Amino acid sequence: MSPDATHAPSSPCRARIAVLPGDGIGPEVTAAAVAALRAVGRRFGHAFAFDEALIGGAAIDASDEALPAATVAACEGADAVLLGAVGGPKWSDPKAALRPEQGLLALRRALGVYANLRPVRPHPATLAHSAIKAEVLAGVDLIVVRELTGGSYFGRKERHADRALDVCEYSVAEIERVARHAFRLARTRRGRLTSVDKANVLETSRLWREVVTRVHRDEFPDVVLEHQLVDSMAMHLIARPRDYDVVLTENLFGDILTDEAAMLAGSMGLLPSAALGDGTRGLYEPIHGSAPDIAGKGIANPIAAILSAALLLRHSLGLHREAEAVEAAVSAVLDAGAGDARLRPRDLGGSASTLDLAQAVIARLGDASKPYPAVALRD
Ligand code: NAD
Repeated sequence: MSPDATHAPSSPCRARIAVLPGDGIGPEVTAAAVAALRAVGRRFGHAFAFDEALIGGAAIDASDEALPAATVAACEGADAVLLGAVGGPKWSDPKAALRPEQGLLALRRALGVYANLRPVRPHPATLAHSAIKAEVLAGVDLIVVRELTGGSYFGRKERHADRALDVCEYSVAEIERVARHAFRLARTRRGRLTSVDKANVLETSRLWREVVTRVHRDEFPDVVLEHQLVDSMAMHLIARPRDYDVVLTENLFGDILTDEAAMLAGSMGLLPSAALGDGTRGLYEPIHGSAPDIAGKGIANPIAAILSAALLLRHSLGLHREAEAVEAAVSAVLDAGAGDARLRPRDLGGSASTLDLAQAVIARLGDASKPYPAVALRD
């Protein structure tokens, strides 16, 4: 990234973005997000260069590796990484030695992105599509910080004829760094942090609670901290989601709670995520998977991917005004879709295609001169 990219949002920024479309609907929603980024570049005078690389099932088909070295190199040479999704029935044989998800886990590890931010702020126009009552959802604005490179996803795995194990292990340093990330974030928001664990049963959770309590006492006493057991959190997240600001939790609990939180927003197709480490480089992806049931039909909702691009602008490039412009454009499209099914995503009961939604967002970004998808992924 050019030095000016981190500081002055209004001065021209040059940035290199690695694009990993992946599998299923990944390429469809990623193309929409790249088109939105190109529109931002044109409107605000920034030069974004895109490098496309393979991951997941697409990489297994091409090179018998879920994460080729060339992909890691492209990501390491980039200021930010935009990813679609990996996986699908073609590669889901439980006996297969190579699985698409291995590529994603290895990439998170390689990039050292240990803090996964998943904001949940249901849009007024989508409240009616949630299974939860609108009055429970009004005003919800929370963000889950999920630890992303530790726990049972990365621990020792064994499979025997009559048993299997996935070891869950956390070090003090791993908990400290993600806790600091979450506390710092809470300071920029409403100053409340809920740490979620299972300290009544799990030793890793007892360590988690001990470390979070110490980091709070020594470094962030101004933030209000509460601890919550994961089982009751699953209940409270649905019953009183408005009470939460920043929710910090470990890898597996975070994976499950964020899918549950997605239902507050009404659909999987709306929620973005950012995976961050110590520097500014991040990995940005929608929280949904590759949706094989609708892949190739041109009907996937690209909004989660486009909002992931907004997080990329904010967290990796320091382009806050541009991130807000993308979010405002998405918000305007969702508003328009409330009264017009042709502008409403299909997962929210409308009839809009991926292309319709991408074009609508780009038009509201102020540049419809180069209609999507005529824009190529490469410069
Ligand atoms: P999924 O998120 O792919 O799909 C769940 C449901 O939501 C499906 O009905 C799908 O059609 C719908 N959906 C998801 N995204 C949508 C969108 N943008 N627009 C409209 N509808 C959307 O979850 P799944 O079915 O459990 O998994 C499918 C594959 O994706 C599996 O191979 C899984 O391993 C993989 N997966 C990958 C990631 C990732 O790459 N980060 C995350 C989760 C699942």
